[in-house]
Amino acid sequence: MAKVMQRIGDGFAERVYLPAIFEGLKITTRHFVNNLFGRKETVTISYPDVKIPYSPRWRGQHRLLQRDDGDPRCVACFMCSTACPAKCIHIVAGEHEDTGREKFPIRFEIDELRCIYCGMCEEACPCDAIRMDTGIHAAPVYDRDSAWVRKEQLLARKARDYQVRDNAEGPPCAVSHR
Ligand code: SF4
Ligand code: SF4
Repeated sequence: MAKVMQRIGDGFAERVYLPAIFEGLKITTRHFVNNLFGRKETVTISYPDVKIPYSPRWRGQHRLLQRDDGDPRCVACFMCSTACPAKCIHIVAGEHEDTGREKFPIRFEIDELRCIYCGMCEEACPCDAIRMDTGIHAAPVYDRDSAWVRKEQLLARKARDYQVRDNAEGPPCAVSHR
């Protein structure tokens, strides 16, 4: 059997929404005045002059590490591309003239649009040749091809040099990836 619900506040003021309108105006005015004299309740920052420190859990885009002679550490073993759940690492291997190294990546490309930033590639790498510590965001691009990051770009990247939040301020499972 249907139950008839009583309306809360059936007077004229409620029917023209006056209490709700004044309550909203009161909150808006309180925030306006508080933020005008000290910005106590604002959640925005004056970016780019002020930047919020990143969480230590934020990795950023990939980079390839170099040997002392500038060659990539990567030995084109395909461990990272095999481990990658998004299948977004493409490697073309070549034979290195140094038999001690055997192979090197002629091409090493990552589709940053498909990447899910899981970190499996750096976990899988036996040579510590690929890291996700640049802190670089995926930038907007005009076409899919521009989202591919090539070997030369990956080798030129450096580890992030900006401040990250103290672990104590992050979630309990926060870990540093430096
Ligand atoms: S972070 Fe994950 S998805 Fe991205 S390239 Fe590495 S393994 Fe693939
Ligand atoms: S980055 Fe590491 S795991 Fe990937 S191919 Fe190179 S050496 Fe192998």
